[in-house]
Amino acid sequence: VNPISPSSASQFEQQAAGLVPEVEQIREGMWSIPLPYRKAIPFTLCYAIQDREGGLHLIDPGSEEEGNRDRFLALLTGVGFTTADIASITLSHLHPDHAGLTNWLAGLTGLPVGMHPIDAHDLQSGAAEARYALDVTEISERWGVPRDERVRLEIPPELTPYRPVIPRVALLEDRDVIPIPGRTVRAILTPGHTRGHLCFDIEGEHLLLSGDHVLPATYTPIGRGGRVGRNSIADYLDSLETISFADDFESAPGHGFRFFGLADRRAKIRDHVLRRAREVETGLAELGDVATIWELAQRLTWRGGLLGLSATSLQSALSQTESHVDFVRDFSVEAYSRS
Ligand SMILES: [Zn+2]
Repeated sequence: VNPISPSSASQFEQQAAGLVPEVEQIREGMWSIPLPYRKAIPFTLCYAIQDREGGLHLIDPGSEEEGNRDRFLALLTGVGFTTADIASITLSHLHPDHAGLTNWLAGLTGLPVGMHPIDAHDLQSGAAEARYALDVTEISERWGVPRDERVRLEIPPELTPYRPVIPRVALLEDRDVIPIPGRTVRAILTPGHTRGHLCFDIEGEHLLLSGDHVLPATYTPIGRGGRVGRNSIADYLDSLETISFADDFESAPGHGFRFFGLADRRAKIRDHVLRRAREVETGLAELGDVATIWELAQRLTWRGGLLGLSATSLQSALSQTESHVDFVRDFSVEAYSRS
């Protein structure tokens, strides 16, 4: 298995420095357009694909942060297009760092926004918004967070996630193609990060748009959409297998940098998720069923350590710990480790 290697040196260097990279042409008639987001996630990569009639198709137009509308217009002009050329808008998933500008762009163009029905539901019903609690009393009780630590769960106004508004949805099911004349861009359902997350196979180009499913430099958080249905950890591990057809493709993610070596990256991510699962298993064996989510989370491996997390990142960590507890109880970690 070849180790992961960046295929865009400039994106690699910029993301390592916490900076926003330039627009890049990544294929004939295809561009990556970076749009700034917030500190912990400096930018989201929007992908723009030209069709044979000159129309431009957007995937993940990026966040609604201050200045991003003007920035987006300038970057579009820079590659030779205007909003009048936009022929379709599609989302990998419901998160505001990918979907923020869609309300504005859908309004300008009158276009529906392509997304998977499950994420469309979780977005429109508010189910996904419930992934963060603004009143932390209930989750603190449920997760056994000590009183003097509860303040760390509180989300300050500047970190409060917002719900993207999608005026009209064009439902995109697993294996459906985005209607792009002269191209076959196929949606691949990859639940885990959210329940209706889609990757996109740009057929004939050996290129996979991997959204937030597989990122080159960070482990994607799991179960960050609606929370009902099948266990998000099991979904995620299965979805890592779903994209094995693209192991020798170039991967173009929603954050970070384009890279080769998807098989290696998938294996590393899988090891990381299963290590957490085994840590939870050991924790439950040692502490017994009375173990709280808070206690179990202390024993898991977190980037920068659990002590470094607060607000949305701490809520996300504890919520993922809870999903791991369910995973360990309902699935066989050993079977997943063998397969
Ligand atoms: Zn996301």
